[in-house]
Parts: sequence; C-alpha cells; structure tokens
Amino acid sequence: MLKTTITGSLPKPSWLAQPETLWAPWAAEDPAKLEEAKQDAVRLAIRDQEQAGIDIVTDGEQSRQHFVHGILEKIEGIDFEKKTRIGIRDDRYDADCPTVRSELKRMGSIHGDEVRFARAQTDRALKFTMPGPMTIVDTLADEHYGDRPKMAMAFAEILNEEAKELVAAGVDVLQFDEPAFNVYLDAVPTWGMEALNRAVENLDCTTAVHICYGYGIEANLQWKATLGAVWEQYAEILPALAESDIDQVSLEFAGSRVPMEVIKLLDGKKDVLVGAIDVTTPTAESHEKVAAVIRSAMEFATPERIFPCTNCGMVPLPRSVSQSKLKALSAGAALVRAEL
Ligand code: ZN
Repeated sequence: MLKTTITGSLPKPSWLAQPETLWAPWAAEDPAKLEEAKQDAVRLAIRDQEQAGIDIVTDGEQSRQHFVHGILEKIEGIDFEKKTRIGIRDDRYDADCPTVRSELKRMGSIHGDEVRFARAQTDRALKFTMPGPMTIVDTLADEHYGDRPKMAMAFAEILNEEAKELVAAGVDVLQFDEPAFNVYLDAVPTWGMEALNRAVENLDCTTAVHICYGYGIEANLQWKATLGAVWEQYAEILPALAESDIDQVSLEFAGSRVPMEVIKLLDGKKDVLVGAIDVTTPTAESHEKVAAVIRSAMEFATPERIFPCTNCGMVPLPRSVSQSKLKALSAGAALVRAEL
C-alpha cells in the first residue's frame, strides 16, 4: 500500500545535457557517444530511485529532449524542418513547433529500445511515459487535418500501436501526460477522453494519465497566479476521468491550491497518484510535510488507491535537490504506512 512513484522525468547529468535547462541540447554530438551517455544516465536515474526507495520507477526520461517532440521524430507526416511559431496551452506561451503536413503514420518502433534497456536495469515495477493525444495536438502546427479531434484520433491510434509494443517489452505502467487537459476543459469529456481511451485500448498493463499545472517556469508561475484562490480545473474534468478506461490519475497537490476533496469525483474507481512533492521549490520537503499531504488524501480515498508521487517532472531541478525530494517522498510515505 502507498507505493511510491514519480511522474516521469529527472534532471539530466551535465555530461548528457546542460543541467537545470528545459529542452537542453545534448552534450555529445557523436551518435554513438550520445547513445552511451543516455544509457548511462538511465542506469543512474533508476539507481537513484531504487536507492531512495521509490517502488515504481521510470527511466527518468533521460533519452528525450522534449516530452512531446521526442515521440514525433519517428512518425511520418510531420515536417521537422518546418517549425511554426504557435501559441500553445491556450496561448500561455509561444513555441516553435514542427508542422503536420500529411497523413500521420508510425514508421516503426519509437521507444522500444529505451524500454528494453530500462527493463533490463531493474526488477522493480517500470513505468514509461508518453504524451497524450490532446497534448500532442496542442504542441504541433497543423497544415493537413484542419480539425483537432481528427488529428488527436490519428495520434491515439499511433500511441496505441506503440503502447502495445512497450507492454510486450515489459512495461508495467504506461502513463500518458495530458497537461492540456487542464487548459481545454470543455474538450476533455468529448474528444480529449475519446482519444485517450483509444490510446489505451486493449493494453495489458496498468494505464495512467498525468494532469498538472506544469513545471516551475516563469510562464506557468504567472498563469497559476491568475487561477484564483481555489484551482477548479480538476473538479471540472475528473468526472469524465472517473468514467474513462484509465486506471490511474496523477494529480498535483503539494503546494498547489487544488482542494483535496476533488479526489471524491473519481468515485473510488481510480488509483490516485497524489502529488506530494512540489517541483517548483528549490529544497526538499520534510518527511512530515509529505506525510501530511498523503494523510489528507486518505480522507477521500482508501490507502489501496493512493500512490504518493511528485507533482510533475523534476527535469529542471538541480540533481541534488531532486535526489533529496525522492528520499523525502519515500520517507513521507513510510511514515504514513507505519500508521496503517
Ligand atoms: Zn506535469
């Protein structure tokens, strides 16, 4: 009970990419050296989680620069040369995005080698993350489909094909990151959920969706400041998630203004990955502070349903801070487990 996990990413070592930078360029130019550096970084990321006592580990997303664009490089129909500057997450920030120019098609395995490598490094349960269809659609320029739901469905089919391969390669938990769910609230119960359900169709593993308020970057902090005293976004979308085919929902609670009772909206039907580690602060939480968040979640869900987790990815943090936060997460969960 109260098994710990992280949302996905961990900081990269300086010999792999520039530290404390989002979407940092790789340090090595030579492909063979880069491959070796990525694999060494994955080994370390898994080891750090094991040592901290994290139960369900990830590869720390060490092999990708960007959590969305990483998957797109092996999909036909996307022009990476044609970067279009678009406002994403409802114009919260501008980004230079690749452009969809023709019918989308998976050209072959995307993350298979990464999963097989990570699987060979650990006996613990392994989680792997991919962006969800709505978030992918929101991070691309479109010159072909002209319709977001249609393009999301095309991606959902590709994600499902890929997911099946990853499950066969030994993934225990497959998580789709959908920060866009917190932005396009009206579209979640309709095409957002429809596409996500298609992505997890007939998958023989635990499935999760991660919905957050983003990394601690300036544009997000400014956005959060406009959201008022109580953040209502989850309350609007969780009823649709309760009825979905997803097994687990990863939510941000540590240091946020999300009311814990939103968990009730999942109706006891889903596991909750309770964000008990704030990724926007420069120091680790005390064990007691983590425990307090978990205890408070237990007022609205049974301990069997609760998985203490981080709020979001830790890639922009200094490595020492992220390591301390992993330990705090594990120790906080242990405190509560001892009380059960
Ligand atoms: Zn996140």
